[in-house]
Amino acid sequence: MKTVGIIVFFGTLFGLASMLSNQDGRYDRELQAEYRNWVKVMESHDIDVSKSENLQVLDFKNMSDDIAGETNIFSDLIYVNEDMREHKATVKAIIWHELGHYTFDLKHGECDLMNAERFEHDYYKQNWRVLRAEYIETILNKVNED
Ligand SMILES: [Zn+2]
Repeated sequence: MKTVGIIVFFGTLFGLASMLSNQDGRYDRELQAEYRNWVKVMESHDIDVSKSENLQVLDFKNMSDDIAGETNIFSDLIYVNEDMREHKATVKAIIWHELGHYTFDLKHGECDLMNAERFEHDYYKQNWRVLRAEYIETILNKVNED
């Protein structure tokens, strides 16, 4: 399967956490709308998303080309690469991916949406229903184990 770029998870990098904690808390309107949609979908499956309410920053940021998004669970922030802004399906996939890390401690490879590398933009558009179903199933399996 063809992949482009990397989705970086910074949850374990303590140094970066303190560096980024100086950022102002803020939410991009478009990303916040997708977050609300994600909450709705999760709640429709009786999945508890209360942990995600601690999120302080959900915003676009200029990042290196090979990074699609970042999550920092210590500073409670999620960033999406500014270059992705026009690619709605990809932005959606990145937010769901990062919220998977942030809220459920999902790891790379647990499902296709949690792939460490970003797929082509069309891949998300064409396969969203399958990606989404697999992601929800992964979360349900995880929360039922705990
Ligand atoms: Zn990731």
